[in-house]
Amino acid sequence: MTTTALVTKPQAGDDLSIWPGSTTRLSHGGLSVGGVDLSEIAERFGTPTYVLDQGEVRERCRMYRHAFPDAEVLYAAKAFLSRATVRWIEEEGLGLDVCSAGELELAVTAGFPGERIVLHGNAKSPHDLEAALRLGVGRIVIDSPSEIARLAAAVGPEGHQKVMIRVVPGVAAGGHAKIRTGTDDQKFGLSLTDGQAHHAIARVLGQPQLELTGLHCHLGSQITTVKPYFVALRRMVGLMARIRDTHGVVLTELDIGGGHGIAYRPGEPALSLTALARRLRAELDESCAAAGLAVPRFIVEPGRAVAGPAGVALYRVLAVKHTGDQTFVAVDGGMSDNPRPALYGVRYAPRLIGRHSVAATRTATVVGRHCEAGDILAADAELPGDIRPGDLLAVPVAGAYQLSMASGYNLVGRPPVVAVHDGHARLLVRRETLDDFRARDVGL
Ligand SMILES: *Cc1c(COP(=O)(O)O)cnc(C)c1O
Repeated sequence: MTTTALVTKPQAGDDLSIWPGSTTRLSHGGLSVGGVDLSEIAERFGTPTYVLDQGEVRERCRMYRHAFPDAEVLYAAKAFLSRATVRWIEEEGLGLDVCSAGELELAVTAGFPGERIVLHGNAKSPHDLEAALRLGVGRIVIDSPSEIARLAAAVGPEGHQKVMIRVVPGVAAGGHAKIRTGTDDQKFGLSLTDGQAHHAIARVLGQPQLELTGLHCHLGSQITTVKPYFVALRRMVGLMARIRDTHGVVLTELDIGGGHGIAYRPGEPALSLTALARRLRAELDESCAAAGLAVPRFIVEPGRAVAGPAGVALYRVLAVKHTGDQTFVAVDGGMSDNPRPALYGVRYAPRLIGRHSVAATRTATVVGRHCEAGDILAADAELPGDIRPGDLLAVPVAGAYQLSMASGYNLVGRPPVVAVHDGHARLLVRRETLDDFRARDVGL
């Protein structure tokens, strides 16, 4: 018996696999996310607008807690941070990884407990360190030799601060050269191969007010296979064994960072969380047993994989241009709300919403409204051939590293963020207006 004939093949571009789990098709080509029609959101809040599915963010936090039941899961705030997301992350029992006094203060003032926060950064300013100590962050991750004395002085002889050391394990992984951080040819961390990590460890152990709890590494971002993680894990356990042998100190924490890859277009590979968790657990137990080490508390730091798939960007088409054999579909946002295609050549799968088109699809380049030829939002987008000004485009997987990297270019203003949940939409972050730019422009 065969049932395949009964399954209707989805139309090109109709694959919802990368959309939030709550996404449903509406009549007339509409889509709803979190129970809210995206076209209605565009009407009510204007465009461009970013939609964040609250249930999807929470569900992804739960997936991590479930996959890593014994580990500490820290959400990497730089992927996207707002006071509401801080609350969701807190309620779901995750910790937070921040890279600046700004991220830190926003989180703490939104009610996040300081001791569940870890501060990173390759160049922490005096203000970053002052805020970290004032707000009582759980751990500070040391990323350069000079930071050790500065931090020890800031903590003071009577003080106490837990720290980790960021180690470069010499593992190349990540979706693009600009987001690979596991090898010695980039700015983050202290090298395992040239002795910098060893040197820093010895210096930290010599500072009584700094308590070295463990080691940290972060290989890069948009990693879709498990192998780089367990290679790094083995090297980190090896280093922990050497620290015990050299200094007689047994570290109790191992932070393997984030970087878990997600699909931006249907059919793209994503990192399997369950495979990662299973493999790392086994590897950790095995290599610790081999080295005669107690198994340290494990820490993971996902950013993109928590926030990315929960976001959808909405744009209005402003102009369509056919140039030679190319079609340019220009929308009312662009590199000021999403610099990722320009930075790393990332590709997205935008979709026409709010109108049903029967026109054959054609390949188009979705471009922004900014004064840069590189202001491309989606190359090779499959869109209906009759796409026209006034149409609405929705871009899934827009929740991470878009608004958090947004700029004021061309004084267009950064888009608002609207949370959707259980059929309701509410504004989390309002649109940036000309008044905001004027308010900062204080000289004449
Ligand atoms: C950016 C970053 C992360 C998160 O990376 P994702 O790719 O968003 O998972 C985790 N840890 C550190 C130290 C980072 O810099």
